[in-house]
Amino acid sequence: MQLIYINDRLGYIKSNVNIGFLLNEKKEAILIDAGIDDDNAKKAFKILDAEKIIPKKIIITHAHADHFGGASWFVKHLNTEVLSTLPAKSILEYPLMEPIYLFCGANPPKILHQKFFLGKKINVDKIVDHGKISFENINFEIVELPGHSFGQIGILFENYLFSADSFISYEFLAKHKIPLNSDIKGTLQTLNFLKNSKFKGIIPSHGDLFENYLDVLNENERIINQILEFILDICFKEVSEIELLNLIYDKFNITIKDMATNVLMRLSILAYISYLLDENLLRVEFVNNQQFFVRVS
Ligand SMILES: [Zn+2]
Repeated sequence: MQLIYINDRLGYIKSNVNIGFLLNEKKEAILIDAGIDDDNAKKAFKILDAEKIIPKKIIITHAHADHFGGASWFVKHLNTEVLSTLPAKSILEYPLMEPIYLFCGANPPKILHQKFFLGKKINVDKIVDHGKISFENINFEIVELPGHSFGQIGILFENYLFSADSFISYEFLAKHKIPLNSDIKGTLQTLNFLKNSKFKGIIPSHGDLFENYLDVLNENERIINQILEFILDICFKEVSEIELLNLIYDKFNITIKDMATNVLMRLSILAYISYLLDENLLRVEFVNNQQFFVRVS
């Protein structure tokens, strides 16, 4: 973990999941996300404390456990207030919902009760929406960033955007091959919004500050379009979900070795199927009790 100041009013603790901060003149802070667990939160606080930064509020950008799992530590030890959107609140206050939806709504097996999916429960003190807002004498803006996770938001302050997981860095693209997005239409809208922005910089949750961000956004968009085209290509005839997943794994050199990767990858690919169905580019067929997808031509 390393503390990085962007200017004297904002910065982030660089970690597996960055923790952003906005400061007022008394060095009271609004944190952006809280790390994955108590240990992570404690280490982050030590670093902030050494700089005499006092966390007052935490805004959770979206309800993935690696972003909110550490929030309860801050609440317990510093009485920090927690803010999130309404969709995120429903999971922050009932975190089992994340493994539940990853397991198609069925009771998730214990193997999915791991800290990457099951964060510590946390009560949300205030629900936030998009628009300009002021807390602790800090004026900033909440920006909707649909696509990656329901109700995801970014924080805009002094023309720097904390962009949560609205796009991923080259390093993460190389590692994951297919970015995790639950809503492809939203993701494409968000990428387009970011591409047309004139921010001084964007800080993604995973990775470093981008001052020039156009290329990385184009690369995220290129991969999404490549997957959409590939699905349409292979669906010239009826293709089952399992066949579709396997063909995509082969094409993108993805190896699935555990249930965690399997559920995440399946969710990612279902988002493409959903998008193509809603755009009337794909349709569903049932043959011998089996569901197939086929291109609308
Ligand atoms: Zn996420």
